[in-house]
Amino acid sequence: MGRTADSNPSERTRRLAGLDKACLWHPFTPMRQWLADEPLVIEAGEGFELIDTAGRRYIDGFGSLWCNLHGHRVSQIDSAVRAQLDKISHSTLLGYGSVARIELAQRLVRITPEGLERVFYSDSGATAVEVALKMAFQYYHNIGQSERRRFLALRRSYHGDTIGAVSVGGIDTIHEIFRPLLFETAFVDCPNPYHHPAAEKAGDVVLGQVDEALKAAGGQYCAVIVEPLIQGAGGMLTHPPGFLGGLRELTRAHDVLLIADEVATGFCRTGRLFACDHEKVSPDLMCLGKGLTGGYMPVAATMATREIFEAFCGEVGQGSQGSRGKTFYHGHTFTGNALGCAAAIASIDLIQGGGLLDELPEKVELIGRGLRALADHPHVGDLRQCGMMVGIELVQDRSEKRPFDPAERIGEAVCARARRHGVIIRPLSDVVVLMPAPAMDTGTLDRLLLAVVTTINEYFE
Ligand code: PLP
Repeated sequence: MGRTADSNPSERTRRLAGLDKACLWHPFTPMRQWLADEPLVIEAGEGFELIDTAGRRYIDGFGSLWCNLHGHRVSQIDSAVRAQLDKISHSTLLGYGSVARIELAQRLVRITPEGLERVFYSDSGATAVEVALKMAFQYYHNIGQSERRRFLALRRSYHGDTIGAVSVGGIDTIHEIFRPLLFETAFVDCPNPYHHPAAEKAGDVVLGQVDEALKAAGGQYCAVIVEPLIQGAGGMLTHPPGFLGGLRELTRAHDVLLIADEVATGFCRTGRLFACDHEKVSPDLMCLGKGLTGGYMPVAATMATREIFEAFCGEVGQGSQGSRGKTFYHGHTFTGNALGCAAAIASIDLIQGGGLLDELPEKVELIGRGLRALADHPHVGDLRQCGMMVGIELVQDRSEKRPFDPAERIGEAVCARARRHGVIIRPLSDVVVLMPAPAMDTGTLDRLLLAVVTTINEYFE
């Protein structure tokens, strides 16, 4: 009897890889190269591992693109989603309440920085940012200051891929092409000491630039947007201590809103629940996504203060019959999907009930220790860590901070090689990124770090 193609694992892998190449268009992926390579096809996950179609296991070293918090197939989250499936998967929030959304909103108000009292749901980090930008703009319009319509952002920042989010993005390689479509944004430097000419004083210099910009354009700005403590996609660019707090003071002084984009940093990644918690900062608007559902479902949220919310309330009857009134006319079909909200509630229960936050200092320390093995490596220009977020900057020449020729794609080659050591990670150009799930046990964390150090040493042997 002949065997069917799918009963043979390597034939099945080949078949799926062929179909992938025939039908899919992958995000952020040079497709010509993809078509020439042999893709890895993930079939399952368990705990902190990803499993491919051939049954090979890899440590998920990048939290499945920075969103996984507790590991894969965690029974509490899976059960919460199944229980929600037995009730309803989705109903709309346009005009109706919904149990899981209400319960999650109450929790988010409780755990986010003081003053954030309203939750506006959407379904990805980019939409959470898009909502925050539109809210900031309309807030000033609603209170009679419609000349405040400019945004200020940081160079090398990343806030997502929708047009508004791209407008406040500062990574030339990915954002520049779209400039003709974007609204104008003012940019100040990224205050990462390794990349700033005034390394020691980078934070103060950039705060000075923000102050100048806000002074010079008087009442034209509506908001400053920042990835608090660390700019992820720009290359894991950490900010000096005090920078975020300084930004909060300046935005208050100039009567400009502060938008904290915690899509990447939120939910334990930086060693605290939110990056803002490190400097006791309460932003006016806060964007959440990725880890909100433990990394299981596409749900995002924009949190707002009461003051902002009140400016959108208007009078009863206004804005419902064709007149705009003060209403925020924005929403997506799957806004705050109920299955995702159920996953998010279970994830927050795990964070709060399982001692995860208490375990973080030990894990953060363990990562720091593990990375020291690379501190003197001739091709490691900089090691950056913010809690569980790590960037290892690979360079041609360490003493001159000379980068590799981007065409060599060294970061990609190193990460591809890490697979031989049973680890999946993804680079940002030549910055090797580690973003383990905060709940990852110390044994697996140790294995991950050892594999990465070994890979880098081997690659440059
Ligand atoms: N904001 C930040 C800081 C991010 O890092 C990302 C994604 O990496 C986003 C927004 C966009 O999130 P999403 O990919 O869910 O749209």
